[in-house]
Amino acid sequence: MMDYKIIKKCGRAKRAEVKTVHGTIQTPVFMNVGTAAAIKGGISTEDLQGIGTQVELSNTYHLHVRPGDEVVKKMGGLHKFMVWDKPILTDSGGFQVFSLAGLRKIKEEGVHFQSHIDGHKIFMGPEESMQIQSNLASTIAMAFDECAPHPCTRDYMEKSVARTTRWLARCQKEMKRLNSLPDTINPNQLLFGINQGGTFEDIRIEHAKEISEMNLDGYAVGGLAVGESHEEMYHILDVTVPHLPENKPTYLMGVGTPANIIEGVDRGIDFFDCVYPSRNGRHAHVYTHYGKMNLSNAKYELDERPIEEGCGCPACRTYSRAYIRHLLKAKEMLGMRLCVLHNLYYYNHLMEDIRHAIENDDYANYKKDALEKLTWGGEN
Ligand SMILES: [Zn+2]
Repeated sequence: MMDYKIIKKCGRAKRAEVKTVHGTIQTPVFMNVGTAAAIKGGISTEDLQGIGTQVELSNTYHLHVRPGDEVVKKMGGLHKFMVWDKPILTDSGGFQVFSLAGLRKIKEEGVHFQSHIDGHKIFMGPEESMQIQSNLASTIAMAFDECAPHPCTRDYMEKSVARTTRWLARCQKEMKRLNSLPDTINPNQLLFGINQGGTFEDIRIEHAKEISEMNLDGYAVGGLAVGESHEEMYHILDVTVPHLPENKPTYLMGVGTPANIIEGVDRGIDFFDCVYPSRNGRHAHVYTHYGKMNLSNAKYELDERPIEEGCGCPACRTYSRAYIRHLLKAKEMLGMRLCVLHNLYYYNHLMEDIRHAIENDDYANYKKDALEKLTWGGEN
C-alpha cells in the first residue's frame, strides 16, 4: 500500500508525495540516519520532531547484531521500540556486511561473515535480510544486494549485478510471503530495489531496465559515493535515472554533501540519506548556507553569534558559537548534541527550500544561487 504522486516537475526535478501506513513523506526528502535506532550525538526521538525529520533510517545489520531483531519484534517493532510513529526505512544490511564485517564469503545463497562486535558467524542472504527487516517492521525495506568494491573489473561487476538481480527476485518473493503472515507487525512493508553497476554505464542502464520491470515500490541507486568523482557520480545519475520508473520514488543511497543533494534532485532523485550531518557535527563541523565551518577554530572563542544567523534550530535559537565551542573543547556531550541538531535541522530545511523551489518552478535559479553560496566558505 503506497501511493506516489508527483505534485510538480521542474526540469527533471520532482516534487512528490509518498503516502505510507506511517504517514505521508514530502519529497525530495533527506532521511536522518539513526544507525542503531538512535541518531548518534544523544539525539532523542522527541528531538527529531522539533528539527523537521520526516523519515528515520535504521541499519538492519547493526540491529540484527544488537539488540537482535527478535528482541525488537518482541518489543512491538522499531516504531514502538524507539517511540517514533513516522516512516522508517531500514537498509538491507548488505552495505555493512560488505564494508564492516570481517572474513566474508559470498555465495549464491548469500554471505557468510563474522560479526564486527564479537566475531560470531552470521549468514545473511535475501530471505534472512527480509526476515530481519520484517521483524524490525520498518515502513520501507531495502533489497539485499552486493555493493561491489570500487574499483573492480568489468567481469566482477557483471557477475555481481546479475547475482544482485537474482537476489532481488528472492527478496520480492520472501517479502510477499512475510507480509501475508498473521503475526507480521507491518503487513504493508514496502520494498525498494537497488540499481548497481558502479561506473559502468551500460551495466547500470541494463540493470535499471531489468529491475524496472519487477514492479517494486521504489528504486534506489546504490554503489555510488564509494570513491568515484562527483562528476562520475552525476554522469551515472544522468544516464541511469531515466531508465527507472518515473512514477515510483527514486533513492540515491548514502549521498551526500548539500551540493550533491542539490545536483541529485536536479537528476530526478526523491530520497537521500547520509551520515555527514551527524558525523561531522560530532567533530565540530557545522553546515551553513555559505559552506561548512569548524567550530573548534580559535576565532570563535569570543563569537556571540549563533552558528548561522536566522537558523531556527535548538542550538542557534539559544546558544552562541563561543559557548558551543567551549562545550566541544571541554568534551561536554551537549556541544556534540547541539552541533548534530543544527546540522540535521540544516539538511531537513535545505530539503524544504528545494521543495519550495520546485513548486515555484524555479529550481534552476535556486540551484545556481545555492551552489554559488555554498562555495563562499562558512568561516565568517
Ligand atoms: Zn542552527
